[in-house]
Amino acid sequence: MADHYEVLGVAHDATPDEIKKAYRRLARELHPDVNPGAEASERFKSVTHAYDVLSDPKQRQQYDLGGQGGFSGQGFSGFGDIFETFFGAGQTTRGPRSRRERGQDALIRVEVGLEEVIFGTHRDIEVDTAIVCGTCHGSCCQPGTSPVTCDICNGTGSIQRSVRSLLGNVMTSSPCGTCRGYGTVIATPCVTCQGQGRVRARRTVPVDIPAGVDTGVRLQMPGSGEAGPAGGPNGDLYLEIKVKNHEVFSRNGDDLLCSLDVAMTDAILGTSTTIPALDGDVEVELRAGLQSGEILTVKDRGVTKLRGTGRGDLKIGVQVVTPTKLSTKERDLIQQFAASKKPHAPELGHFQQGLFARLRDRFLG
Ligand SMILES: [Zn+2]
Ligand SMILES: [Zn+2]
Repeated sequence: MADHYEVLGVAHDATPDEIKKAYRRLARELHPDVNPGAEASERFKSVTHAYDVLSDPKQRQQYDLGGQGGFSGQGFSGFGDIFETFFGAGQTTRGPRSRRERGQDALIRVEVGLEEVIFGTHRDIEVDTAIVCGTCHGSCCQPGTSPVTCDICNGTGSIQRSVRSLLGNVMTSSPCGTCRGYGTVIATPCVTCQGQGRVRARRTVPVDIPAGVDTGVRLQMPGSGEAGPAGGPNGDLYLEIKVKNHEVFSRNGDDLLCSLDVAMTDAILGTSTTIPALDGDVEVELRAGLQSGEILTVKDRGVTKLRGTGRGDLKIGVQVVTPTKLSTKERDLIQQFAASKKPHAPELGHFQQGLFARLRDRFLG
């Protein structure tokens, strides 16, 4: 058998205090609750036995004189007490757990139109969640009754057993199976909610969707989620926004984008036109000599900014349309026009610096 001092890792002249400290450290490391391995279990037994002997001045003296020590009487059966002394009953008296818990958060997806996003909108959202039971108001009991103290665990929620092992009595604690650790038993559960304190229900939640939200934005509504069990507080409700695509207008940040086909003659001579924007008509001046790829900006007719103040702009991309079918008379007029101009050879330019790049940069820049 290994030397008791070596087992505890202390010198032969160690003080009782040093022995105690060494044991406390090793027991923490090797206790079967912490370290369930077979090897740890064996070492735990040796360590505890060594401490049993060396902590008792009479047995220590006997051991030092060459005796085995410890196996008689007190030593082993006293283990439970030793363990209690060090670790107290702390682990075994956590008390009953509460039935009340916070409810879960709920997530609802909401589709809104682009036109609704400009100024914000109001929705009545149908939500299917747990709500507090209207019969027992979360108490889980039939009206007029209340939970009774569990007489198996006396309301502590846990059962302590003294397990007798080679080392003596070890106290173990486990949740009470009768009350499932709550310390109380609901003898007459509420019939409406089957003792859960909450029921599933569909309800309508009025929601103000702020202007400027975009796809992916989540709006948090504190306390509008699932009711918790046994009258526990509600979780939060999250609305995840999806903005529907519009057939004409698209969005770049707070700006609204669209394109406008302009007749060749209008582009040459200039005119004004009315654009039916999402928030009403907009008068747009088309100057004489308008080019394809030009962007007309109408200030403050975009989306209201979600953060900050004011609105983005409405940006209109111009596309000059060349006529493809001409009457004989029109063809004559164009030919007369062409004849009046100096001959003009087509000019080459770099593709990337040409029309397509200009369009993209102006729209998105
Ligand atoms: Zn109920
Ligand atoms: Zn119980």
